[in-house]
Amino acid sequence: MANKELRRRKREKMIEENGVIYLDNVSKVYSTGSPALNGVTLSIGSGEFVFIVGDSGSGKSTLIKLLLRELTASSGSVYVMGQDLAALKHRQVPKFRRNIGVVFQDFRLLNDRNVYENVAFAQRIVETPASEIRRNVPAILATVGLAGKYKAKTRQLSGGEQQRVALARALINNPSILLADEPTGNLDPKNSWEIMRLLDEINANGTTVVVVTHSREIVNAMHKRVVTMKKGVIVSDEEGGEYIDED
Ligand code: ADP
Ligand code: MG
Repeated sequence: MANKELRRRKREKMIEENGVIYLDNVSKVYSTGSPALNGVTLSIGSGEFVFIVGDSGSGKSTLIKLLLRELTASSGSVYVMGQDLAALKHRQVPKFRRNIGVVFQDFRLLNDRNVYENVAFAQRIVETPASEIRRNVPAILATVGLAGKYKAKTRQLSGGEQQRVALARALINNPSILLADEPTGNLDPKNSWEIMRLLDEINANGTTVVVVTHSREIVNAMHKRVVTMKKGVIVSDEEGGEYIDED
C-alpha cells in the first residue's frame, strides 16, 4: 500500500508540473513510411480547451490515439493524468480509459440500439449499478438536448443528433478528459456549432477538452488555444490562436 501511495504522489506531482496531458519528445513511426509524429512535446493543463489543427496526414489522429493508448510511442514519453502510458500493463488499459471520453467523426454508435441503450451501455461496462444508470442517462441526455429521444434508434437520427448521443456516451462516466477527433467533420455548420457549444459548456464544468478540427470558422471564432501540426511536428501553439492558412 505504501508503494501505491508513492505512485499516486508521483502522478500528482507530474500533473502539477507538466499538465494532465504531457508528451515529451514523442515520435511515432508506423511500420510503413516516414514518422507520423516527430519529436512532439506538448503540455495541456487540467481544465484547458485546446484545438489541434493541421493538414490531413499531419499526425493529429496519431496524437489522439497515443493519448488513448490505442498506440504506443516509438520514442519519447506520453503521460496522461500523470500516468506514464508506456508503463501501463495491457490489463490496466480499460481502467485507464474510464477517465477519458472520446468522440469520433463517424459517431461509432450501436445502430441497432436506441439512444438510451447506447448511453447506458457505457455505464454497464464499468459496472455502474442499475439504479444509478436510470438516474444518470436521462440527466446526460437532457444536457445534450436529447431529452425527448430515448427510444429512437440511432440510425433514425440526424447526424447532429447522432453526434450528441456520442457525446452523451463519452460523458456519462464523468471523464476528466474529453478527446474529440473531428467531431464535426460530418455535420453541417448549424450542428457543428451546437456540438462546439456543448464542448465549451463541458469544458466550463472542469473537463479538459482536446478537439481536432478542420473548421476554420469555429477555431477563429472561439479564441481558444490552437496547436497547429504539420508533417508530424507542432509548428505553432497559441492562446486565442487562429487557424493558420497552409497555402
Ligand atoms: P491526421 O489525423 O492529421 O490526418 P494521421 O495521424 O492519421 O494524420 O496520419 C499521420 C501520418 O501517418 C500519415 O502520413 C498517415 O498516412 C500515416 N498513418 C496513419 N495511420 C497509419 C497506419 N495505421 N499505418 C501506417 N501509416 C499510418
Ligand atoms: Mg485524422
